[in-house]
Amino acid sequence: MTSPTNTVIIGAGLSGLTVAHKLRTSCYGHRFVVLEKGDSTGGVIRSHREQGFIAENGPHGFLDNCVESRTLLEECGLESETIKSPLINFVRYVLLDDELKMIPQTPLKILLAPLIPVGAKLRVLADLWKKPLGGQPTVANWVNHRFGKALLPFADAVFTGTYAGDPDRLTIDSVMPGLRTLELQHGSVIRGLLAKARSRKKPAGAATKLTMPSMTSFPQGMERLPQKLTSYLQEGSNLFLNCGVSAIDCRDGIWKVETERGSFSAENLVLAVPTNTALHLLKDLDRPPLPAIPEAEIVTVVFGFGPGSSLPPGFGYLIPEREQRFSLGTLFSSNMFPGRAPANHILFETLVGGRRHPERLLLSDEALIEHALEDVKDVLPIQGEPVYTRVLRPWGAIPQLEMHYPQLLSWRDGLPAKYPGLHICGFGWEGIGLNDMMKHGVRVAEAIRHGEESGRRRAEVKGIYF
Ligand SMILES: Cc1cc2nc3c(=O)[nH]c(=O)nc-3n(C[C@H](O)[C@H](O)[C@H](O)COP(=O)(O)OP(=O)(O)OC[C@H]3O[C@@H](n4cnc5c(N)ncnc54)[C@H](O)[C@@H]3O)c2cc1C
Repeated sequence: MTSPTNTVIIGAGLSGLTVAHKLRTSCYGHRFVVLEKGDSTGGVIRSHREQGFIAENGPHGFLDNCVESRTLLEECGLESETIKSPLINFVRYVLLDDELKMIPQTPLKILLAPLIPVGAKLRVLADLWKKPLGGQPTVANWVNHRFGKALLPFADAVFTGTYAGDPDRLTIDSVMPGLRTLELQHGSVIRGLLAKARSRKKPAGAATKLTMPSMTSFPQGMERLPQKLTSYLQEGSNLFLNCGVSAIDCRDGIWKVETERGSFSAENLVLAVPTNTALHLLKDLDRPPLPAIPEAEIVTVVFGFGPGSSLPPGFGYLIPEREQRFSLGTLFSSNMFPGRAPANHILFETLVGGRRHPERLLLSDEALIEHALEDVKDVLPIQGEPVYTRVLRPWGAIPQLEMHYPQLLSWRDGLPAKYPGLHICGFGWEGIGLNDMMKHGVRVAEAIRHGEESGRRRAEVKGIYF
């Protein structure tokens, strides 16, 4: 057994690396180790570079509207390396009735756009007097009840683009807790949003115009972020790769962790692993209300086309389930960030699978390429054959926050009181985006620094959901 440290962090994805970075930079003398099952860090963040094309197996970028992630980039010297695509310049599309329709970036702008018939727009106002649904309504039931069925394809696109999920299974309390709280407090989402806007005090001299954030990545791809955070760690000293954790236990305030490379002990234990791994490791300590949560996997089919091919302007399109297509949507990667394809070439990535179509992940690479290309050519004016194709199989799955997820969250929130020094963060617990991971990781490190529980983040209402 290695000598006890202050903190053991399990998992070297962005969550675990963020906690490690913050402990290193703001908690002088604090001894920690990061234990990672795989032979590299970064978790689901994987960039694929081949023949001059750069594609992503996991996340493509994150919005620059989060203080914690901006600070993290500055602290680790990555701010000057970022490449940004302002959302204001890059539209997205939804496929509706076999046609690509440009969609604005915020729910209010979607409502004002001519996408929805006038009658359906008026129906949205019924939110003002519709009583909140009790229990844990699914996203689809909730949207239909509050705003009417005309908005369902847009909700579908939002949750396809974020969770690769199924709005008939995801629950509104889990995926939009801030909006649901506003609804329950004010009896209506619109009334809640108006009250929130009124109560927001504008600092003296503040600009009145709402600025849109930018999508952020790096010239080499998203992998640069975990790579940089890892460069401050040392394998065998405070980072242990190929070091899967098989069991955890807590005795007399000290955590003991069993791994493939021996056991480790510490006063604090950070679980920064996928939700289901956390549930598995915790089950002998404290029985969770659910043994596991559902997950969604995506396969990315990458296409490069040569000179003469072009993409419509924008970031790409999403496809609601009712369109009955093979893919979930396509990202116009070479439009998003420069340098994703050789000169005069284009790159796009088509996403397949998700919560509703896990069976499609079982298809061969050849079949995936054939069906995905057929789908794309039906939607985009792309001629000829690709000069480059690659199927990227998933490294990780997206947690699905469905029925009973709030009970799981409450159970997790109760654990630190029973097991001091325990901190549970990572993919799915308090959001699923990179900014959520960095925010949560920073909070965990701060709590450790002050010897406190990390507590639950206040549910926020986001201006932009995808
Ligand atoms: C296909 C896909 C696309 C995405 N796109 C976006 C996007 O465009 N924008 C965005 O903001 N977010 C996106 N996300 C979400 C984003 O990638 C995640 O929020 C984030 O990467 C999760 O980081 P994490 O460290 O919490 O989890 P993970 O990346 O899952 O890391 C967990 C780590 O724990 C390790 N581990 C597991 N079990 C053990 C064990 N027993 N012992 C030791 N280590 C263990 C794993 O090997 C892994 O390294 C996407 C996710 C996926 C899957």
